[in-house]
Amino acid sequence: MASTTGSTILDTQNINNEGKSHKRNISKSSIDMDIDKFELMENLILSKIDSLLTNFENKLSMEVGETAAIIKSYTPTYTSIVNTLKSVKSYLNKNHQYNLHPLSQIIDEFEYHDNDHTEPSKFIKSIQLLNAQLTDFEKHHNLPSLATHPNERLIALKDTLYNYDSAMTISNFRHLNFFELPFQWRENKFIIYGYRFAKSHVSAITSLFYWHNETVNIWTHLLGACYLLYLGLFDYPNSNTYQIYGPSKNDHLIMYLFITSAIICLMFSVIWHSYTNIGYLNIRSKFACFDYSGITILITSSIITTEHISLKDYPNMRLMFVICSIIAGLVGIGMAWHPYFDKPESRIIRILFFVSLAGLGVISFLCSCFVHNISYCLNLFSPLLFSFGWYLSGVVFYGSFFPECIRSDVEIDNFQISDETIMKLDKSNQLLTYLRKQPKHTCHSNKFSSLWWIDWIGNSHNLWHIFVIGGVLGHYHALLEMFKRAYQ
Ligand SMILES: [Zn+2]
Repeated sequence: MASTTGSTILDTQNINNEGKSHKRNISKSSIDMDIDKFELMENLILSKIDSLLTNFENKLSMEVGETAAIIKSYTPTYTSIVNTLKSVKSYLNKNHQYNLHPLSQIIDEFEYHDNDHTEPSKFIKSIQLLNAQLTDFEKHHNLPSLATHPNERLIALKDTLYNYDSAMTISNFRHLNFFELPFQWRENKFIIYGYRFAKSHVSAITSLFYWHNETVNIWTHLLGACYLLYLGLFDYPNSNTYQIYGPSKNDHLIMYLFITSAIICLMFSVIWHSYTNIGYLNIRSKFACFDYSGITILITSSIITTEHISLKDYPNMRLMFVICSIIAGLVGIGMAWHPYFDKPESRIIRILFFVSLAGLGVISFLCSCFVHNISYCLNLFSPLLFSFGWYLSGVVFYGSFFPECIRSDVEIDNFQISDETIMKLDKSNQLLTYLRKQPKHTCHSNKFSSLWWIDWIGNSHNLWHIFVIGGVLGHYHALLEMFKRAYQ
């Protein structure tokens, strides 16, 4: 027990030392006072409990014959232990997210059984029992045995939130690396440095103002949203399409629907990327819904705009398509927020949804070909090709993790981030070793060509964001051209 707890304290000390050298990475003002107090309390409690338990272990290992004198010497510390344990318990109670309630239970039992601390031998026994229970807790985190159903074991493994406490502590001083993140927060194994682990909404929002591995993702879409606001307020009203070809009120409405949807999509993305590393899983998954919803809103409105222009001479048919698209869009947003659709078994429904949304666009194009003629439609839709080109190129980077997948400054894990990996490592008893790994640098790590800088700028998600903005701007200019062609 002592050695394990000792290593916890050692880790904390290392963290503090490392933290001093990384002070430039954080803005002290970004850490609110409550968190500071909390963290101070946490460190105090950890060091107290560590020294007390180490002390006990040393004393308990001595000869029984010597106990009388020893017991007398440390009986008075019992009150302080109980107080410490009470503080630990209240700390745990305030932090349900830590998922350490089994530890809380152990302390409860200790208090319940051992209210008579005037008898030294009972006290020794109870401390031994507590020690054994804590050791057991540390070893297994109350996990069901390997023989239990794999799903049960997996849920329990995920509930333990390995690395959670140290991630919280480290995040006060410096950025985390990939291996310091709890498993549930790991997504792209090629992005090694620059992770935040935000403790509050305030720290998630203030992370906009210092550099980390999501800074480019946040600012590309924030600036993109500002530019779209400029397009809506100044560029579109002064455009040739607006002034010369005089689209109707409905046309303006459709144009503003697209611009507003694009701004919503980009701003939802900004919100998600500000919150990707919030230290609470339930809040994190809620903010992930913003990102999915934003994408759905953008795709739906893009399809509605093309339906509106291509079927302008057939108002009934157009109305039908627009209504179907709105329904599909609402279903998509509902799916993004409903926990059922986030499950693996709902994957087929999610795929069907995006296929049907894309299908609506294709059907409206075919209908337009049918009621007009093919050359008219090809001419009308051709400005959209640039926009498609941007989106498709973005998807290639998004899916391939290029260029970070060719980085050579650190060794990259062979594992995929998945439930199967957790189970495989757990079965072979390698999970803890894997979760406690640290980045291993190669001999190329100082070279620019090793892409050591890819965590901070230029990675696949940064490029995906830039291509999305290209796609949005491409669609805006395509709409201007399509209005022009439709009214010529
Ligand atoms: Zn993104």
